[in-house]
Amino acid sequence: MPDSFKISTLTAERTRKQERSDFISFLSKYYYTPYYYEDLEEAYSNLYFYPHKLGYDFFDAYCKMLKSYKSKKVIIEYVNDSSFQAFAAYSNSGCGNYISISAGVPTLLQAVYHQVITVKNPFATTHGGFDDVSLGEVRFPIDVFQFVDDSLSFKQAFQKLIHETLPNEKWQRVMSTIMAEISLAFIVSHELSHIFLGHTYLNSKCGNNLLNEVRYKNRNKSVGKWVSQAWEIEADQMAVSFLYNYMFVDESRQKRFKKHLKCKNGETGLIQLLSRVVYALSITFFIFSQTQRNVKSTDSHPSALVRVVYIISQLMTVFFHHHPKIDENKVERSLQLAHEQAESAWNQLGFEFGYKSYKETIDDLNLSVNQLERAKRRIARFAENAAWK
Ligand SMILES: [Zn+2]
Repeated sequence: MPDSFKISTLTAERTRKQERSDFISFLSKYYYTPYYYEDLEEAYSNLYFYPHKLGYDFFDAYCKMLKSYKSKKVIIEYVNDSSFQAFAAYSNSGCGNYISISAGVPTLLQAVYHQVITVKNPFATTHGGFDDVSLGEVRFPIDVFQFVDDSLSFKQAFQKLIHETLPNEKWQRVMSTIMAEISLAFIVSHELSHIFLGHTYLNSKCGNNLLNEVRYKNRNKSVGKWVSQAWEIEADQMAVSFLYNYMFVDESRQKRFKKHLKCKNGETGLIQLLSRVVYALSITFFIFSQTQRNVKSTDSHPSALVRVVYIISQLMTVFFHHHPKIDENKVERSLQLAHEQAESAWNQLGFEFGYKSYKETIDDLNLSVNQLERAKRRIARFAENAAWK
């Protein structure tokens, strides 16, 4: 979990009480209630505390980066919702910017990584590729209550799931926690990016307050699907750059990630760490897009495959900016392998990625990427004035 946090002035200024009543009144319009984790036992509440804190730290870092933070605020909270989702929102009243993460998210991620890492060391070099694995028995639902007895409360259900999936070895527990940290850091960064890029503001102007991370078909009020999909790609790209800065730029933090994710030193270790990021983000997208079966998506979010393609390319762009002398082909091969290893692990948990592993619709990839690029260019001009309202 993250290094010792320095509470910034911005964070210290926040009064929890005011924040919470603000958040509760905002949520009540959408029939959500907040999920508080403070009364959980410590080992378990940390699962929620660290990403939450990380969200605020990231917000402060984003503000400083954009030199525009004096009057900006955000409220980040978990909500009583068992599914795997998150949303970002803008509102004229109260705090203005809201990020909400389903209470199921940290638990499901942790449980998935427990399972993945229990099955095998995901980064073993003797890996046999992904075509030769048969589907395993373990199944992870998009909604945690599909997995556990529905007579249990959220808290009981989540604790049961974590308990049942806990691996035996300490290195496995540490590694799965670090992988979950990468996923959660990306998710919270992605939501912050929606706010900083002005998507939530524009969305609210269209009469639609929540930018939801699960697909939403048949919305009455919404921006077009291509605009919405391009927003997702933009938020992913900003989040990836931010995640890179978080993990790689600060040396002590980079060292911590390398140590727990069993990376070597030097150039090899750097490429390994970058590959672990691709692995974690691939798994995150497999979970998020369990309902999306085709490369060419017709709803608010692009398919996982398209998003991962953009993410790998963005990660490489940022990486070579910092390390222009490292062999591009070597990095590309390593990242592609990491994505395939993630798909293999996902298969072993009993899932297929996309409709018949996307193989039938892979021809749509170019088309989808081209359409998204055009949509991105179209909205860039339009969005410029809206960022940071
Ligand atoms: Zn999004």
